[in-house]
Amino acid sequence: MSPEVKHRLSGVQRLLIDGRWQESDEGQVSDVINPSSGLTISRAAMAQYQDVERAVAAARRSFDTGLWTGMTPAQRAKILWRAADLLEEHADELAELEMLDAGKSLAGARGGEIPFAAECFRYYAGWCTKIEGSTKQLSIIPGQEFHAYTRREPIGVAALIVPWNGPLVQAAWKVAPALAAGCSCILKPAEETPLSAVRMGEILMEAGVPAGVFNLLLGEGSTVGQQLAEHADVDKVSFTGSTEVGRKIIDAAKGNLKKVSLELGGKSPVIIFNDADLDEAIAGAAQGIFSNAGQVCVAGSRLYVQESVYDQVLSGLVRIAQDMKVGPATTAGLDMGPLISQRHLNRVCDRVERGLTEGAVLAAGGRRLELDGGYFLEPTILTECDHSHSVVKEEIFGPVLTVIKFSADDDIVPLANDSEYGLAASVWTRDVSKAHKTAAAIKAGLLWINCHGIPDMAIPFGGYKQSGWGRENGYDSLLQYTELKSVVAKL
Ligand code: NAD
Repeated sequence: MSPEVKHRLSGVQRLLIDGRWQESDEGQVSDVINPSSGLTISRAAMAQYQDVERAVAAARRSFDTGLWTGMTPAQRAKILWRAADLLEEHADELAELEMLDAGKSLAGARGGEIPFAAECFRYYAGWCTKIEGSTKQLSIIPGQEFHAYTRREPIGVAALIVPWNGPLVQAAWKVAPALAAGCSCILKPAEETPLSAVRMGEILMEAGVPAGVFNLLLGEGSTVGQQLAEHADVDKVSFTGSTEVGRKIIDAAKGNLKKVSLELGGKSPVIIFNDADLDEAIAGAAQGIFSNAGQVCVAGSRLYVQESVYDQVLSGLVRIAQDMKVGPATTAGLDMGPLISQRHLNRVCDRVERGLTEGAVLAAGGRRLELDGGYFLEPTILTECDHSHSVVKEEIFGPVLTVIKFSADDDIVPLANDSEYGLAASVWTRDVSKAHKTAAAIKAGLLWINCHGIPDMAIPFGGYKQSGWGRENGYDSLLQYTELKSVVAKL
């Protein structure tokens, strides 16, 4: 552990309310656990009712007094750009925090997650000066002249609730567009992963975000998250997490009909046609399910392989799964790290067990690994599954792949669409027409052709059906933090 991270972890992770770092109202703290070892590495303040009230009041005050919206768009852009620079400057430290807190590999976080979070701030810095309305020509009363136009205005106070599987990136995907739009916000990271959110809060203050415009509440979802989602002074809630909690957010938001966007679960199909480049497809399918130990919302957890190449694809995947080195994120050169918690490991193992009792057959993995006290599961492949099996229907959020055979090209779209989720899918084929026709027919928000799981700030990210409402990234995300006003002036 680097000296700065050691020092950081020795203290209590605090809340940021109205520009001041503070412990919770009644001094409550919880342990921060390293999933690679099961050991407590720090302690985090747990916000209580009064902390939430103070954070919402600070955000409301900063918004209503124009602390942030009163700046020019270019001034706000400079601050977001500076935040991106600072995230990059502190990339080593942030990567270490993600490794210790979320079980990310150091190289993966350093080369992937942290630069991507920085890029997100830079991308939205660019949008600050380009939020525009338009002019309109009226027809309603012939002979009268009007000047009519629309304005995009920030929605107000935004509560941003994120999960543990990509703590910094998920937070950046919400904080950057909310701030770019001119909102004041309150970030609530997952209970399991407070560390990088605290560091991001410090960076935002250093970059020049005014006090009260960005607030950070650590704590329980069922209390802090729920209170934010219900709060009458919160105008917008943007949530990423499970579909189950997404439904609770909708209920909680009803009071003041706050605007809601939801990035929820998935059970994404990966389709390998018999004319695919099989080496690429096999490696892509393995990467699609085993990266981050399957704890990825767009994980390709349902694999469909065309009959004539089924055996070859399955044996390739089994070989990859069996060769993968699994172990603590703190060990360099491993292929897969831990699951986030004991509770989650138990949940994933229960799901696998249930699949086996329903008739699925283990082609690889399936066992817990007792390594260094962390929460590990072998990369797991299940065959002989069908759409009546829970392992095919339900999101597992772990390194568990189900493999199903299909015969004719026409059979695949109904199978792929037979899910309550609609987040993502990938199609592997050398036939350009087949690729695009299949992409058009699948009901999902993200379609990859001959690749899987590639995100980009320019690509809208979100789901059909029970995978959510709205989109993150791109201009579309920014719009979700704005209201559209129409102004009609009689001349
Ligand atoms: P979760 O729904 O349990 O928790 C997510 C966040 O919501 C946490 O911060 C939690 O504290 C908070 N929360 C819990 N109960 C709440 C309540 N009643 N009111 C308000 N907030 C509450 O999800 P998780 O287990 O942390 O994350 C895994 C889930 O997230 C998976 O289903 C995964 O698919 C989904 N996910 C989706 C995307 C996407 O972009 N679609 C991205 C990442 C993760």
